[in-house]
Amino acid sequence: MAEPTVNINLDNPTEVARETLRRLAMRRIAPTPDNYLTLYEEIVGKPGGASGGASAASVLAELAADLKTHYPALSTQTASLNKAIDKSDWRQCSWLLSEIAVQLKQQPGDDKDRSQANKDKLARSIEIDAAEQNDHLALLRDLLAKTLEFGVVSQLPHNPPLAEKAQKLAAAVREAHSATTLRDAASSLKSLWVSIEMQAPDAQQQQEMLKRILLLLVENIGELLDDDTWLRGQLDMVEDIITAPLKIHSLQEAEKRLKEVIYKQSMVKHGLREATATLKATMTTFVSRMSDAVAANDEYQGKIATHIERISNTEDVLELNRILETLLEETRAAQSESRRAHDQLVQERDTAMQAEDRIQLLETQLAQMSALVREDPMTRSLNRRGLEDEFVREASRADRYKTPFSIAVLDVDNFKALNDKRGHKAGDEALIHLVKVAKEELRLTDHVARLGGEEFLILLPNTPRDEATKIITRLQRSLTKKYFLDNNERVLITFSAGVAERAPGEGQETLIARADAAMYEAKQTGKNRVCLAQDAPVQAAE
Ligand code: GH3
Ligand code: MG
Ligand code: MG
Repeated sequence: MAEPTVNINLDNPTEVARETLRRLAMRRIAPTPDNYLTLYEEIVGKPGGASGGASAASVLAELAADLKTHYPALSTQTASLNKAIDKSDWRQCSWLLSEIAVQLKQQPGDDKDRSQANKDKLARSIEIDAAEQNDHLALLRDLLAKTLEFGVVSQLPHNPPLAEKAQKLAAAVREAHSATTLRDAASSLKSLWVSIEMQAPDAQQQQEMLKRILLLLVENIGELLDDDTWLRGQLDMVEDIITAPLKIHSLQEAEKRLKEVIYKQSMVKHGLREATATLKATMTTFVSRMSDAVAANDEYQGKIATHIERISNTEDVLELNRILETLLEETRAAQSESRRAHDQLVQERDTAMQAEDRIQLLETQLAQMSALVREDPMTRSLNRRGLEDEFVREASRADRYKTPFSIAVLDVDNFKALNDKRGHKAGDEALIHLVKVAKEELRLTDHVARLGGEEFLILLPNTPRDEATKIITRLQRSLTKKYFLDNNERVLITFSAGVAERAPGEGQETLIARADAAMYEAKQTGKNRVCLAQDAPVQAAE
């Protein structure tokens, strides 16, 4: 078979391998490992067969390694070849070798040409890009420094040494113009990350610890309070928030609400203290004047000394009032005092009364503030806490006077559709409207509470189940007349309801559960209806 002679460097395995593959292709010999070995040895001048201990597999492996180094484009095929050699899957090997042979034929030019071309291309692009790269480097340097200053330093307020380290590094990055200084900056950056990572679990632990301490504190304060409702409302809220996983939004919300209430309360309390002080001062003046007026009477002097002591020892407005009454009584009895002194006393008393009125006003304001803690701010109906208070009150009243007492659980029908069609804001307005109409329709002694979402509870004291059903049905009807207006469009809101009468002694939970099941029945049987709950199980009545 005449074959063109090729000059190949026998010390270069790649060239030998390539030549081997070329001959395989030329002679149309099946590229099996053995055929490959025979041709390989033919080229390097070794006898066929015993190849100095080298097996076909090891020579093939060598070829695969060489191909991989010199023809990165063939990396997929060489990897598969290595796998096939490992598995001694010679059928796969020969298929892959023929594949590689075809690909090698298609490789343009020779290695040298190609690498030279690549070098030239690279040199050109380096020239073109050099200036641009300098600009990019400066930009990147500035970006890194800014990231450190604004993104990292600001996140480390609780760790001044680390913050300072980050700040210094930012300055170093700005000055890093040589490769060495850049490398130094890079290794400082690495060590900064390590330090930051090390202190991260610390911060988490600290947060957990603070949460636990706060919870303890809240619980302790809670135990000290009896029925100081407004303060307890705030404590409950804080407790709710710290027991749940911390969310920045809820923390901010809680902080805002607490601040509002604390601010308002401090104003009221300040006024209350001032008014009490005025009352006390007025009374002291009043008593000393009286003492002047009736200086002659020794027995009376003694009484007055006692009164002065009582006044200075009390902060209780009612007690002050009682002392005042006694004094007036005694003054009237002391006939020897002059008319002028008496008038003066009356005048002093008026001032004291005004102070007392103001105290009452401030106390009412304080009570209104506690109401806020009991209300759902959006619909102004009672929240869960408010409902709890009212339930306890009404239940004990019902037990005491043996009167019937019912509740109704309401759930707005197809509310999700209303939200989807008209938006969440309109949904909110619809709920506000529903509570407004309910308050208008119900008696003053009834209560509306929001159980959550679009679900409400109506508490009907002194009402048996049949009457309760009538009242709730009437509310349904009135909603068809007092419709909700959204963008001047009439929107009909309907609800499904379950009514339950409380069995004597029955707790809030089971009662609501019964009404809720009846409400569910109303949903199942067509909505916009009122269903009556099953009777309470017997033990609830015990
Ligand atoms: P059903 O008649 O069976 O009661 O259906 P529904 O669509 O009323 O009930 P569903 O429970 O599927 O959807 C209630 C929706 O109420 C889902 C929730 O996004 C929405 N929702 C809950 N609370 C509020 C709120 O305060 N405002 C508004 N706008 N939407 C709320
Ligand atoms: Mg619902
Ligand atoms: Mg609903």
